[in-house]
Amino acid sequence: GHHLLEVDNLKMYFHTQDGVVHAVDGVSYTLDRGETLGVVGESGSGKSVTHMTIMGLIDMPPGKIEDGDILYRGESLLEKSEEEMRHIRGNDIAMIFQDPMTSLNPVYKIGRQLGEGLRLHRGYTKQQAQERAIELLRLVGIPNPEKRVNEYPHQFSGGMRQRVMIAMALACDPDILIADEPTTALDVTIQAQIIELMQEMQQKNGNAIIMITHDLGVVADMADKIMVMYAGRPVEFGTADEIFYESRHPYTWGLIRSIPEQAVDEKKPLTPIHGNPPSLVNLPKGCPFAPRCPYAVDVCHEQAPEYITTETGHYSACHFADDPAFLKFAPDTSRS
Ligand code: SF4
Ligand code: MG
Repeated sequence: GHHLLEVDNLKMYFHTQDGVVHAVDGVSYTLDRGETLGVVGESGSGKSVTHMTIMGLIDMPPGKIEDGDILYRGESLLEKSEEEMRHIRGNDIAMIFQDPMTSLNPVYKIGRQLGEGLRLHRGYTKQQAQERAIELLRLVGIPNPEKRVNEYPHQFSGGMRQRVMIAMALACDPDILIADEPTTALDVTIQAQIIELMQEMQQKNGNAIIMITHDLGVVADMADKIMVMYAGRPVEFGTADEIFYESRHPYTWGLIRSIPEQAVDEKKPLTPIHGNPPSLVNLPKGCPFAPRCPYAVDVCHEQAPEYITTETGHYSACHFADDPAFLKFAPDTSRS
């Protein structure tokens, strides 16, 4: 059968006055029902823009899909009309955005915003939509939903608004839930609750989750697979275990060393990655990570690495990804 979602060598560039921005530059992965994919990288690595492209939200100038394909249940999303895409976004693939305040309309009551998709895509009456909105608020753990459904976004706390966003995304039982840093603005306890909630929903509905985050620690326990992105492309992809315990890319090593919990032990000091991601207009000629990579040698500055893939499908874009002597530099994340 088909994968639920198959992204195949997707490339999307922005054509700007300053030049061509290689925002998405060869992203490939597959996702099946019930799976969770973690997409990890610093801000500006292309995580969000890749998924906005997949949602069909960037298909007009200056953005242009240059190559590749996006297959949902075996059908190319690139061949869908704008109307079909709107339907897919309302029913099948939903995205929770970073900041609930920008995605919720401040002048409409929560109930109306929750019910809008159901009225639009499912033909619910106003009354049915209101009842379902109350149900959804209850589902995401908002107390007193009969009252809250008639309130406005500003009457909700940050954590509660994030729950409303999840309720909104779940309203039409999507097959795929894309969550873009849904917890960054929240405190740790609420973060944990939101993630738990998403996982409960997943167990009930069998939907797939794509979790976008700059913090590898956030997806440590929840993801089945992880894609690490840098400069608009995946630099490493594998199961969560492969990424944590058998990583083959120095950028991933840097992300692991930046997870606060990794530094509890004094022998493993917290070491942020120095420098900044490159401009996506003028990418360095060789490995895009070379200017920041502590292990870079001449060939890294000259030649872009190809993907090196293991038998299990774990791949890495580093010249030395299959060199056992080199892999000894990986952080010591002994399994416990
Ligand atoms: Fe570092 Fe070279 Fe590997 Fe790039 S190819 S990640 S610069 S060692
Ligand atoms: Mg982002």
